[in-house]
Amino acid sequence: MKMANFTLHHLPLACLLLLSAPLIAFATSIPEDFLQCLSLQCENTTPISEFVYTPINSSYSSVLNITIQNLRFLTPYTPKPLFIVTPLHVCHVQAATICSRWYGLQIRIRSGGHDYEGLSYLSEVPFVIIDMVNLRSVAVNVEDKTAWVESGSTVGELYYRIAEKNRTLGFPASVCPTVGVGGHFSGGGYGMMLRKYGLAADNVIDAQLVNAQGQLQDRESMGEDLFWAIRGGGGGSFGVVVSWKVKLVPVPSTVTVFSPLRTLEQNVTKLVHQWQLVANKLPDDLFMRVILWSDNSSPNGTRTMKAIFSTLYLGGVDALLEVMKSGFPELNVTRQDCIEMSWIESVLYFAGFERGSPLEVLLNRSSNTKSFFKDKSDYVKEPIPESGIEGMWKRFYEEDERVPIMIWSPYGGKMAEISESAIPFPHRAGVLYKILYITDWTNGGNEVAPKHVSWIRDFYCYMTPYVSKSPREAYINYRDLDIGTNNVIGNTSYEQASVWGKKYFKNNFGSLVLVKTAVDPHNFFRHEQSIPPL
Ligand SMILES: Cc1cc2nc3c(=O)[nH]c(=O)nc-3n(C[C@H](O)[C@H](O)[C@H](O)COP(=O)(O)OP(=O)(O)OC[C@H]3O[C@@H](n4cnc5c(N)ncnc54)[C@H](O)[C@@H]3O)c2cc1C
Repeated sequence: MKMANFTLHHLPLACLLLLSAPLIAFATSIPEDFLQCLSLQCENTTPISEFVYTPINSSYSSVLNITIQNLRFLTPYTPKPLFIVTPLHVCHVQAATICSRWYGLQIRIRSGGHDYEGLSYLSEVPFVIIDMVNLRSVAVNVEDKTAWVESGSTVGELYYRIAEKNRTLGFPASVCPTVGVGGHFSGGGYGMMLRKYGLAADNVIDAQLVNAQGQLQDRESMGEDLFWAIRGGGGGSFGVVVSWKVKLVPVPSTVTVFSPLRTLEQNVTKLVHQWQLVANKLPDDLFMRVILWSDNSSPNGTRTMKAIFSTLYLGGVDALLEVMKSGFPELNVTRQDCIEMSWIESVLYFAGFERGSPLEVLLNRSSNTKSFFKDKSDYVKEPIPESGIEGMWKRFYEEDERVPIMIWSPYGGKMAEISESAIPFPHRAGVLYKILYITDWTNGGNEVAPKHVSWIRDFYCYMTPYVSKSPREAYINYRDLDIGTNNVIGNTSYEQASVWGKKYFKNNFGSLVLVKTAVDPHNFFRHEQSIPPL
């Protein structure tokens, strides 16, 4: 692990004086001054041209655009950063933090760039991106079953490095391998082992963070309150997390996967209704999520609904068939539907790679998931009646085929055992499943965005009677600015931020605000849905 040998003593005296004074944005020649400030901070001699990009650099646009997942925000009119800093050492993170504060510039922190609303690379006020892409080492310790993973790694890189060392250890994080560890762990992070081992953030045991003063802290020096807040309280509020220490989990040498497809003509309405009653009660080793969409493939070429029951079982096929026979016989899963493989092969399977693809595909950071999209989320605590489900199908038929998708992810198991306040992520016992609503398109680009965004908002409205209430809960990693935002300039009151904050964090929101007030009272780390100080 690289460790920064950096303290406030390395700052010029004027810098120290300014850090303790109110921050002022200097109108004159920020670019040169900011670059000079950066070059003064670190003892190492890396030229800043190797890790800082300004709009006059020929590679500025490619560095900016490379990890932008949501093409809605890749337009000529999207606000662009004054600088992109891609730290090569922790010291560069500290320097970027200190110099941005000095010059009154906001920071956007980016790890994997998957934020649904683009908050890791967009801002309405002058800003700097700290892009963690170069800080992505993964050090796996098989003996004590832990790993230190730098924030710029993708979860695919983490999975790969674990499998490289040991095939019976794994980690419970995202299904999509290009998701960045930095943002993902900050908001909770779940995948196909959610019911067995909880969230990624439930399995974080230490972290290194650069705080608003530019100091590097670990769990011990940041204290338990801040360490609690960064595990699920959402990215970009408390500091730049440089690396995480995680507890690895045991996985069997053989797991079983299956993904049977069922259509309306094969009773999909009754099947998903029944799924709601059983999926959160099946053994923890089984995670069966449902992916729903509609297209024009009914026998007479008209619209139909389709569901894939995408399933991971942590064990062999014989045991799985027994579980399915007693727990969900209506799905009629057969041995022919099932494939046995190693856990790491199942990671590739659920990520959509061809069977037999080399594990190295997990190291490919350039995602094939880029598209135009608007997503939202809900939590379901009572089964939705069949009439309510049929109403969903009706609305799906009013949108273009294949544009809307729903993913229903069952809870229960380990998720129901962890208390609501163990970490800031509060959606635990009592949740049957989470819904991710997606509208995802490539045809028509941003011109058709208003139509699709309007459809998903109407659909969300339709779902009101069927989902959690007071608050209507939402998952912070499925960022949705429709549910409320902070003021872009000036302070945001506790009441205003509670509108979105309680949906993501329920009663933990108050504790997050107290931590923020203690560690970043001037609200240096801020964005449209960052935790505000009092
Ligand atoms: C295609 C796709 C698939 C997904 N699949 C899953 C899934 O299976 N399970 C799941 O739980 N989620 C999933 N997500 C959601 C994903 O977990 C979140 O979008 C997550 O925040 C992404 O992290 P990132 O580092 O890639 O994003 P970024 O856009 O880089 O960051 C997201 C937020 O975290 C902040 N942040 C980033 N890095 C740091 C850091 N080092 N320190 C402090 N703050 C930081 C950013 O400022 C921003 O506010 C998916 C998203 C997409 C687009």
